[in-house]
Amino acid sequence: MRLRVLIPLLSVLLLPSGTATADPTPPVRDFGNGADRNEEAAGVAESTATTARELAPESTPELTWRPDHDRGYPRRTTLPIPPDNPADASIKLGLIPHHAIAAKLNQLQAVGDRVSAEVVGRSAGGRDMYLVTVTAPESAAETRRQERMRRQIESGDRIQTRKYKAPVFVNGNIHGNEWEGTDANLRVIEELATSTSPQIKDLLAHTRLYFNITANPDGRVLGQRPNGNGFDLNRDFVTASQPETRAMRQIMIDNQPVVMIDLHGYVNGTLVEPTTPPHGANYEYDLFIRNAYANALGIEQAILALGYTPEKDGTFPPQIPFRDSVEGWDDWPPIFTPQYAPFHGAVASHTIEFPMRVNGGDYNNQPVAELQRRSRINVDIASAAIRATYTFVQNNREKLVGDQIEMFRRGAAGEPSKQVPLGIVPGFGPEDVYNTTYPRAYAIPATGPAAGRLVDHLIANDVRVDKAVLPFRANGRTYPAGTYVVDMRQPKRGMANVMLEAGADISQRVDAMYDISGWSHALLWGASADPVTDRRFHAAAVPVKAASPTGSVPHGNGPLALKLDDAKAVRALNDLLGQGVAVTLAADGTAIVPASARAAARTVADRYGAPFTRAGQTSGTPLSSVRIAAAVSADELFTLRELGFAVTPVSTAVLNAGFDWSGADVLFVSSGLSYGALNPAAKAALDSFLAKGGVVTRGGTGANFNAAAGLLTATAVAGRGDANGVVTVSSTTGPVGAGSPAHAFVYSPRWFTALGPEVKVEQSYTAEGPLVSGHWRANPDGTGGPEAARGQAAVVSGRDERGAAVVLFGTEPMFRNHPKGLFPQVARALFWTASSAKVLTP
Ligand SMILES: [Zn+2]
Repeated sequence: MRLRVLIPLLSVLLLPSGTATADPTPPVRDFGNGADRNEEAAGVAESTATTARELAPESTPELTWRPDHDRGYPRRTTLPIPPDNPADASIKLGLIPHHAIAAKLNQLQAVGDRVSAEVVGRSAGGRDMYLVTVTAPESAAETRRQERMRRQIESGDRIQTRKYKAPVFVNGNIHGNEWEGTDANLRVIEELATSTSPQIKDLLAHTRLYFNITANPDGRVLGQRPNGNGFDLNRDFVTASQPETRAMRQIMIDNQPVVMIDLHGYVNGTLVEPTTPPHGANYEYDLFIRNAYANALGIEQAILALGYTPEKDGTFPPQIPFRDSVEGWDDWPPIFTPQYAPFHGAVASHTIEFPMRVNGGDYNNQPVAELQRRSRINVDIASAAIRATYTFVQNNREKLVGDQIEMFRRGAAGEPSKQVPLGIVPGFGPEDVYNTTYPRAYAIPATGPAAGRLVDHLIANDVRVDKAVLPFRANGRTYPAGTYVVDMRQPKRGMANVMLEAGADISQRVDAMYDISGWSHALLWGASADPVTDRRFHAAAVPVKAASPTGSVPHGNGPLALKLDDAKAVRALNDLLGQGVAVTLAADGTAIVPASARAAARTVADRYGAPFTRAGQTSGTPLSSVRIAAAVSADELFTLRELGFAVTPVSTAVLNAGFDWSGADVLFVSSGLSYGALNPAAKAALDSFLAKGGVVTRGGTGANFNAAAGLLTATAVAGRGDANGVVTVSSTTGPVGAGSPAHAFVYSPRWFTALGPEVKVEQSYTAEGPLVSGHWRANPDGTGGPEAARGQAAVVSGRDERGAAVVLFGTEPMFRNHPKGLFPQVARALFWTASSAKVLTP
């Protein structure tokens, strides 16, 4: 399920109506372990990272699949069969292990002419992802004709919809320990492959059914929610940091499903979206809600028809959050698959949560027979949801395709965001109305690696980006030729806007949210994206397929400077340090590369897109590679490694077992390390490290560590635990603050008061706001709100009395690998703490 990390209080507000609480599995949402974000990954980072390393050597290339529109169907690919793995967690449940899927699909391709299977991606752990297409046979010419129609639809052009095979997408098992979507996919594919029913024959003549058999092979095998890198894939769609997410994104872009369902567990009774408010403001919601609600009602009937009862089976009737709950299961952030799919044309999309829990404590404690009984019910229910969905598409095909065309047409025409009429479906009230104002365009100045990253990300999400061939005027200024332009008169303007707009502060509209409420690629990714509101805007521009290269080295023979203002520059610097180049850090935070290393600089400029300039000075502190002992969450571990740092995961248990500190320069603490829980030997070893090493902390766990270890004099104050979003900050000229962007991201924000004389403020929440977009309310007693954070220190630095250089973060600079513009601030903290500590104690 969409594991709720915070706000357990909501569970009492959200009991679905009409379903009583009863054993064995009451119809209450499971909000997970209720852990604070800071503790969420405690102990996970280390084990998952080890797994990923073992499975995926760095040489494993990412599989980038694109569909072949010049081949007909069926395709009968012989899928490679992985080695048997008797430890696959699916086996205990009587479900198919990952290693048996390929053989099963090879067999299903052989039984007739309806099934085609392809490997379309590879997990973080190196396991194959399978996309199955079920449809009536097509000649190559017919496949090309279908693709032509798909493109016309995407342009918002009318087609002869009765000739178009409507695409339906079923995504299985995106959370690895919510297994049964995979088995339901295989069951339904087998039915479709072998059915002699005229109804199925008609279905396959008029639709293409796409099944992502398991979206998370690592998690399926390991019996865990995230993938092998420890990422929740169903939070990754705005960022696409993981290969599985990129594969799913490509499936949706290339096949353009009119309807999609995402199969999860476990909520009893079965949860079927659409959702409660707030609703994403960038959807064509009038088209969406009618179709989504209608399909949900059909799914509900199909599940009821299975005949499971609370008394007999412990299975409660389905619930539809839009109809049955007030709030708490929203479609605000497009981080979830069904909330991302509409931007690529889905006019109905659903999270389905089948009811019978088999993961967590139940997996370990329930008898095998009971677990297998529950899994059988889940497979039945998931299969019913799939059948109901394809029947819905079969019965409403031309209308659904027409609505998809209309969605893209409105975007291409640049029509204003439509106000959805109240009562468009029963229960659609003022609380459901969310709108946005689309600008005419966004201008993205081509000023460096961050702009290139943003442009490439937009293009990867199928947003059209142009590049100005002449200077143009907008917003009272002149933008030079070469500026990127996102013209909002385009079919996927919703996708563009949901990434580039600042977002909205929705704190006052709902009490609490399901997951994050704020994100913004324009404010958090280090590049500018200026909205242009003038409707007469015009720029001479041509579409681009990729951003221009950003790496450069100036001519000449002198030393070079590299501003550490982007993750790509950090990556380049770490590469140079790894090669043993004698880089120094100037007082202004710029890295200085000696003239003798120009060839190496050219290589990394090209490899990472890092822009070098002529160095105005050559003196500075010598830098060396920073080796990090990291008690961090999985996303932070991933990000630190992505930046090129050498990271050794640690935890309370690792330190208590005896840890060799000689290989560490800096300790990073944000998760899974408690100073008070260290045994005397571990404490003594850590204390002697602290006499010469640096420390960086984040969040509550980090602040507690700072206090318990007696580092900096500072009191950490916690904002409301579920507060999250984009905030405005102001930075000082300190070693960490200098050069930082004007926005940061927070989740369970913290600030520091009662600062000792040794403590320097690097960054503060601004005196106004500071929330720009997201959700941040005060606690019921009035504390912990954004007003309380105004003007307070968000990031501080200092040197404790032992000499350790310390930085404390109250913000979330590496959250889910998303706020890429904040990564260099983390790097500066690491370089500063490592080098300051060493200088003091040679
Ligand atoms: Zn799930």
